[in-house]
Amino acid sequence: MAGRGAGSMRVGHGYDLHRLEPMPPEGRGRALALGGVRLEHPRGWGVVAHSDGDALYHAATDAILGALALPDIGQLFPDTDPRHDAEDSSVYVLEASRRAREAGWVVEGMDCTVILERPRIGPVKDAMRANLARLLGVRVERVNVKGKSHEGVDAVGEGRAVEVHVVALLAREGGA
Ligand code: MG
Repeated sequence: MAGRGAGSMRVGHGYDLHRLEPMPPEGRGRALALGGVRLEHPRGWGVVAHSDGDALYHAATDAILGALALPDIGQLFPDTDPRHDAEDSSVYVLEASRRAREAGWVVEGMDCTVILERPRIGPVKDAMRANLARLLGVRVERVNVKGKSHEGVDAVGEGRAVEVHVVALLAREGGA
């Protein structure tokens, strides 16, 4: 930590959950995507959301905004605003990243946990990491994505929801 004085780091936590439902007309599902990667749900279900429903991008956005002590994603991009209907959620990550840079911070590290019963995200974790790293403008080594099962219990375990936790560490730009 040489060269880093007091106040040179910030930590933020982001959390998101979206319901999973059949696609219309039976349900309100939209195509399921996480970290910008399209996933095929075994029952053909999709995510219920106002935007495109990318819970990983939403939690990543809130982790960065949280570290900056800024208003959260729901305040910056209200779901009552029709402009955000089916919006590509990479826009939110880019905006949080832009605000961080503008305030003199860079993402030092980001660790993400995706809790999804099915499908398993193992085969596409690296694609999710690469997408996040690109949006954040950092090397992929600074971003991690883990997949977890909810062991069949509760709504997440029953495949009726997807849940994501993200922790982000920001450092002063140009710090040693
Ligand atoms: Mg969300």
